[in-house]
Amino acid sequence: MKPLDILIVGAGPIGLTCGIEAKKAGLDYLIIEKGALVNSLFNYPIFMTFFSTADRLEIGGLPFMCLAPKPGRQEALEYYRQVTQYFDLQIHLYETVDNIKKETEDKGKKGEKGNKENEVDQINEGLFVVNTSKGSYTAKKVIIATGFYDVPIYMDIAGEDLPKVHHYYKEAHPYVMEKTLVVGANNSAVDAALEIWRKGGDVTMLIRGNEIGKRVKYWVKPDIENRIAEGSIKAYFESELLEIKEKEVVIKDKLGKIITLPNDYVLAMTGFRPDFDMLQRFGIQIDRQNACLPDHNPDSMETNVPGLYLAGVVCGGLNTHKWFIENSRVHAEKIVGQIANKLKGGRSL
Ligand code: FAD
Repeated sequence: MKPLDILIVGAGPIGLTCGIEAKKAGLDYLIIEKGALVNSLFNYPIFMTFFSTADRLEIGGLPFMCLAPKPGRQEALEYYRQVTQYFDLQIHLYETVDNIKKETEDKGKKGEKGNKENEVDQINEGLFVVNTSKGSYTAKKVIIATGFYDVPIYMDIAGEDLPKVHHYYKEAHPYVMEKTLVVGANNSAVDAALEIWRKGGDVTMLIRGNEIGKRVKYWVKPDIENRIAEGSIKAYFESELLEIKEKEVVIKDKLGKIITLPNDYVLAMTGFRPDFDMLQRFGIQIDRQNACLPDHNPDSMETNVPGLYLAGVVCGGLNTHKWFIENSRVHAEKIVGQIANKLKGGRSL
């Protein structure tokens, strides 16, 4: 089968933007997504609100209409689905990319014998072989846009594997009239704590630092601070969760006192991180001394593997607040522009 010009891993907002740019440039491309379309957004809390206004989440130059000041998950799912359908993007859903290997340059050099297809290989310094859960593809260039929402940051404490512990929060209903400990002090933790409390849940927050996170949405921060101040939501600041048991949690408070609280559920809103093992499997070096940054040139977005690029929030390593849709949409144009220029040497576009 003819190799693709670009294979894009991940159909999040940024993977889709890469697909749009590839289509605009007249390149043969395919997006492979392991879950549903915009799978991370699909897995967000049902009633979440983006911190960005709709215009800053737009891709492909298509307007994102929204009546409220900020869109929610449902509107975003509608928007990205419509964009995908408008551009008629080539996507395989529910197919996981397991491995990416670059063929050796020797193989490309066979093109010297005159076969047109192989000449192109040679120009592009060897093809990538991409193995997935459903098949195998060859591509001249690969863009990784796999985000960070698939791997929770675990607390590594006893009881974390109990079924009552969740790292993803969907909606308040299961926690109504129950005792829930929410671990964390950023947007996900605060949104969950407020929603559950408003539906009649008994909420306690366990916070490592001495205040609610600075990045909490500016219109939500006073709400949570006031609920804590009035005692509606209990909060243990500068505290540590030591152990989770069937019906209790054990915490160490800021004075070092060990306290056991009755508990039905733990929502560990401790953040997420890119899948570093997967990136390493693809040949990308991870700087373990520096926020686990995946090796890439910030100007070209090309990794240490020539022809393999990173796009979107995956670029930030453990700095998951560095990149978001707003500021990483531009990666697509940057990467695809370079690829189009390079491939022009191989064939006319
Ligand atoms: P993702 O959307 O995470 O897409 C990556 C895709 O790759 C996923 O669909 C995943 O299933 C797929 N994938 C992963 N591994 C594989 C594999 N091996 N094979 C095939 N597919 C794979 N940003 C903003 O700009 N504004 C906001 O208001 C905002 N709100 C946010 C709210 C929440 C709750 C969260 C968690 C993040 C928010 N962000 C926001 C941050 C950022 O926008 C999102 O993380 C966004 O989804 C990043 O887009 P992406 O395309 O880089 O990655």
